[in-house]
Amino acid sequence: MFMRVERCLAMVVLHCQVLIDADTDCGIRLPWGTTNPREITNAYPSFIQKILIGPSSEKRLIYVLKLFNGTASPKGAVWIDCGIHAREWIAPAFCQWFVQYLIDSQDTMITDILKSFEIYILPIWNVDGYEYTWTTDRFWRKNLSKHHRGQCRGTDLNRNWDASWCGPGASNNPCSQTYCGRHPESEPEVKAVATFIRQRSDHIKGYISIHSYSQMVMFPYSYKTSKSKDHKELNYIAQKAVTAVRSVHGTNYRYGNSATSIWEGRAQLPGAAEDRRA
Ligand SMILES: [Zn+2]
Repeated sequence: MFMRVERCLAMVVLHCQVLIDADTDCGIRLPWGTTNPREITNAYPSFIQKILIGPSSEKRLIYVLKLFNGTASPKGAVWIDCGIHAREWIAPAFCQWFVQYLIDSQDTMITDILKSFEIYILPIWNVDGYEYTWTTDRFWRKNLSKHHRGQCRGTDLNRNWDASWCGPGASNNPCSQTYCGRHPESEPEVKAVATFIRQRSDHIKGYISIHSYSQMVMFPYSYKTSKSKDHKELNYIAQKAVTAVRSVHGTNYRYGNSATSIWEGRAQLPGAAEDRRA
């Protein structure tokens, strides 16, 4: 199981960078909700299932795509999400490209992985913020939830998880880019994903969240500098992914537990999605 998770992470990071190297045009406005998932699930009903996990703050629908091999008995699942931060356009572009890549691939590594795992892909998590970056503010980061006081909108969805919520590195000011929200999982987008994953906590073996920009493979902890009990294994997996990326065009990724290795103890990120299950 471990080796397969390792291959899955290496594949995801590698192909994300390949997309960037190819100067992929992520300036195409991707459908946030129904259109693309409906088309793709209708085209490949035996490979993809579309799962509605809830409405956003502005009542847009958030869909997860489940990719599977209908003839196999998967031993687990891997979760991949894109677009938690609205302005990081390459992330939703990657997730949607990756779905098609998995479907079309004849590579035995891909088909082997799909025999062992179901893959849950959330192509655009922050659907409201993503739309807002197209219509109003290209560099918007948060969701669009309204707050009781003041005129500032939005919560940083990657500071809203129940993992040392709103500690150092997050803000309780609704006008801040790192506003943590009213309480853990106060935002419907975070609540929807947290509930979905909790309901499948024994089944989901790996969690991957795609951001931009920079070239890093980060793993827990983000909110504290100590190492997780899985540190050695996570470090090994990250190193494999980084080696795979470098083998294509020599692109160098940094890797490590984010609070210590990546930020060298200078920054901590409380309430981040990556820490929730660590
Ligand atoms: Zn981000």
